[in-house]
Amino acid sequence: MDHVKPAKRSKIMAAVRSKDTTPEMKVRRFVHSMGYRYRLHSPDLPGKPDLVFSSKKKVIFIHGCFWHGHKGCSKARLPESRVDFWREKIERNIRRDKRVKRKLNHIGWRYFTVWQCKLKNLEKTEERIRAFIEN
Ligand SMILES: [Zn+2]
Repeated sequence: MDHVKPAKRSKIMAAVRSKDTTPEMKVRRFVHSMGYRYRLHSPDLPGKPDLVFSSKKKVIFIHGCFWHGHKGCSKARLPESRVDFWREKIERNIRRDKRVKRKLNHIGWRYFTVWQCKLKNLEKTEERIRAFIEN
């Protein structure tokens, strides 16, 4: 039986979520270990990018596969109930992401998207992040 009260449980869940195993923390830790400085969720750029390298005019987005509709990814499969609701929601997110990237291009910023599922192969993803920042 589960005896934890809902309020306490959500506290526990929040603690679990905010642990540094989240996709964003993995990326931040790696970039930090490379010695790069960045800002977080800069509100003055389109899409409030997760990591911002101002002097390089580069940003990194860390995208959850489901919410951002990662094409062809098993994590992005829609739930079996309320399919239309979810499809519309996710497609709206995809359209917003495209708009954000167009705007960034337009003002001369470059972006790199890290998909949550790609963090399983951490080393390969770290290589690509490094290449993006350095080139
Ligand atoms: Zn994915």
